Amino acid sequence: MKSIEKLEKYLKEHELRHTLERTSMLEYIIQLDNHFSINTLMNDFATTHHISKMSVYRNLELFLKAGIVVMHPFPGDEIIYELMERAETHSHRICTLCGAVKEFHDAKATKLLRSHRFKGFTMKSNHIYIYGICSKCRDK
Ligand SMILES: [Zn+2]
Ligand SMILES: [Zn+2]
Repeated sequence: MKSIEKLEKYLKEHELRHTLERTSMLEYIIQLDNHFSINTLMNDFATTHHISKMSVYRNLELFLKAGIVVMHPFPGDEIIYELMERAETHSHRICTLCGAVKEFHDAKATKLLRSHRFKGFTMKSNHIYIYGICSKCRDK
């Protein structure tokens, strides 16, 4: 499902107001087409759109709950987020020494994971994280 449709569905189901602010924040995240942090939103989006930090946090919280945005377990000082729709197209490879993150695609592994059925549990999303040492760190 497209991110905008997901937002509309979530708002409807939870009887929440449809605000221009929420839509424009989601549109901003869509056009970023990359991983982002709270700082990305604060330094760029919040300033140009005159939106308070509190609203940015609240909207992000809502996007996480609605499964529109995913929080990645990447190392580092900042929490890294990504649009679910985008994150579902690839997996992540993480260097445990320098924290470098690379996206990769493995259709076979993704298919296997997605086809898995759990008893008494409904899968909503899934992500593959591979931890290791990058070539830069290895060659040091
Ligand atoms: Zn990614
Ligand atoms: Zn490294």
